[in-house]
Amino acid sequence: MWCALGFPKHPEMRPIPILMYHNIELAPPGARLRSLYVSPRRFARQMRLLAWAGYRGVSLADAEPYLRGAHQGKVAVITFDDGYRDNLQHALPVLQQWGFSATCFVVSGALGDCNRWDAAELGVEKPMMTAAELRQWADAGMEVGAHTRSHVRLPQVAAAEAQAEIAGSKTDLEALLGRDVRSFCYPYGDGGPRERDLVAASGFAMAVSTRRGRARVGDDLLTLPRISVGGHHLPHVLPLQLWTGYEDRPRA
Ligand SMILES: [Zn+2]
Repeated sequence: MWCALGFPKHPEMRPIPILMYHNIELAPPGARLRSLYVSPRRFARQMRLLAWAGYRGVSLADAEPYLRGAHQGKVAVITFDDGYRDNLQHALPVLQQWGFSATCFVVSGALGDCNRWDAAELGVEKPMMTAAELRQWADAGMEVGAHTRSHVRLPQVAAAEAQAEIAGSKTDLEALLGRDVRSFCYPYGDGGPRERDLVAASGFAMAVSTRRGRARVGDDLLTLPRISVGGHHLPHVLPLQLWTGYEDRPRA
């Protein structure tokens, strides 16, 4: 609802951007899908932009009261998919510099290993955090979310396997970290009503997809949209994604 001057009458209706990153690293030579890499320098500039614009960068867990409409404020959710070691090396120090939190969605069966699910397709093996490194991430006040055990395409497997992948990744990570894991991320953004029900039944409070858009109060917390921050984007794209309806258009 907007008044005549164009300012929101209800600040709580402000859209909440949920940013999606993968690697915070320079793309290795020959790597395909270079959009998955945001350089450490560019990531630092993006976090500075958020802070300059008055946003607090938060994890999905820290954003829950804002997404439910219980808190009001200018927050941007920062998420990383898969659990890459470069998140700990290059993103964590920047997040700490600004007092931000963030969520890393971890493939629980890939700790200390690499991206076996797409290494051949991408032409590069990328190291994942080990269990000890993931504890460092969590001990720094960052959230760990679940991303299945093996990065399976959930709609392509039987219900029992999907259930084991979803619930199993939660119990694996909770046993490792000694804390609740309440957030989930659908691998490849792939999921329908069956997967949503399994995520709910497994006890997750929130889940993110790769559906494009900014989140709003009243959205289904188990199928939240995100904004993909690509390494190939020109610098003016992130401000458009944050402050305009750029992300709210359907994808071409
Ligand atoms: Zn993933």
